[in-house]
Amino acid sequence: MTATPVKTRFAPSPTGRLHLGNLRTALLNCLLARHHGGGFLLRVEDSDLARNKADGVANLQADLRWLGLTWDEGPGSGQPASDWQQSARGAIHDQAVDQLLDNGLAYPCFCSAERLQSLRAEQKKAGLPPRYDGHCAGIPADVAAARLAAGESASIRLRMPGDGTIGFDDLVRGRQTFSVEALSDPVIRRADGSAAFLLANAVDDAQMGITHVIRGEDHLSNTPRQIVLLESLGLEAPGYGHVGLVVNTDGTPLSKRTGAAGVDELARQGYRPEAVINYLARLGGSIPTDELHSLEALAAMFTVRGLNRGPARFDRAQLDHWQTKAMAHLTTDELGDAAASAGVPADLQVSFTALVHPNLKTLADVDDWARRLCDSGAEVLDPAATPAEDLALIIEASPAFFLAARDALDACSTSDWATVRPALEAATGTRGGRLMKPLRLALTGLGYGPTIGEIIEFMPAATRRARLAHAAELATTGVPPNA
Ligand code: GLU
Repeated sequence: MTATPVKTRFAPSPTGRLHLGNLRTALLNCLLARHHGGGFLLRVEDSDLARNKADGVANLQADLRWLGLTWDEGPGSGQPASDWQQSARGAIHDQAVDQLLDNGLAYPCFCSAERLQSLRAEQKKAGLPPRYDGHCAGIPADVAAARLAAGESASIRLRMPGDGTIGFDDLVRGRQTFSVEALSDPVIRRADGSAAFLLANAVDDAQMGITHVIRGEDHLSNTPRQIVLLESLGLEAPGYGHVGLVVNTDGTPLSKRTGAAGVDELARQGYRPEAVINYLARLGGSIPTDELHSLEALAAMFTVRGLNRGPARFDRAQLDHWQTKAMAHLTTDELGDAAASAGVPADLQVSFTALVHPNLKTLADVDDWARRLCDSGAEVLDPAATPAEDLALIIEASPAFFLAARDALDACSTSDWATVRPALEAATGTRGGRLMKPLRLALTGLGYGPTIGEIIEFMPAATRRARLAHAAELATTGVPPNA
């Protein structure tokens, strides 16, 4: 007997850009499939037409591609849409509903929205959880058929077993047991004829051969209903694992405001896809090392057992930790390309990238360093944008200090720091931080970055001269009133 090949899926609705929470779900399912050499499907759950966004499917693909998550089946794979797009599967969903109706395992529900609303309100008042009271469950089939034929509108509900419990072995949380009474009969087709999530999602999983589903714990109570549904249809349910939702450090739900950036925003902020992948793979467990890994290497190490059931806390500092690692792993070619597009002259690119690489938080910083170190026309010390304490340092250093430094550097026949340093000390009468801090500020406009020796060695003499003269001017005029 051969084992069924592993197949997982990511099944988003095209309702907006992906955020870190659903990206993590996508990644976990992808890692699981890749770990077993199985297939990964991107299924577009767009059966709730009113909620779909115009560019939804294109955006989903762009977001996943940016992360480097590729799918074997789904949009762009050459398969018909009915293999991956729910809105193209209406007939298949209808067939499943018909089968359930024919077997008495589902029934039309004629309850009006008002009735259901007041039922919920009563239950709430009595401190009870909302559940359908089975009002239409007992309508004889011929009566229901006559009402439908007369044009009455009805949703379709799944008939859950009378009582007892439904259990399943959650891949992440272990044995889960639900009382049937608490689940009540769920809607599987809306009154407008569209398949409800519960049905479309479960039928598609079964028919598409999905073996494992990793999803958020917000779906936990859907699972026993879907298991009953699939059993009623004679279809095989996948294994389900529910992970804790991604929340903010204070436990509140992720929102854009509190940092749950969409992929598009993370990309704009300069985060590297490999940083995001490595961060998300650790969020909630499962990868034992602190190394930056490729998707393939992460997949090789991935285990479902390693996933935590508790909430996964989004921590910007951790994401930044992986960003730092990703930046350190940039290749010479990647850095060279960034330097070239920042306008760094070809003959300076190698020394420039060596100098700035340790100081890069994002690749976009290359542009800023190019301006500071290579652009002779750039004014780096803008009083309006310079922190007050840095301006104070410039003023305290005095105009004479900068002019003396400028002249001493001009007089040096080399820019080698071992020679330049004593010359600067002698000319300015300062040393250590009193020498280097104001010099660094004058030359780059920043209080951090490459060492002052490296800066002086690298910077063209004309640029250096102009910047020191400008600092002297600033030290003379003092802090402008609007600074
Ligand atoms: N479209 C559903 C969602 O985005 C899929 C849930 C699932 O993974 O089963 O929540």
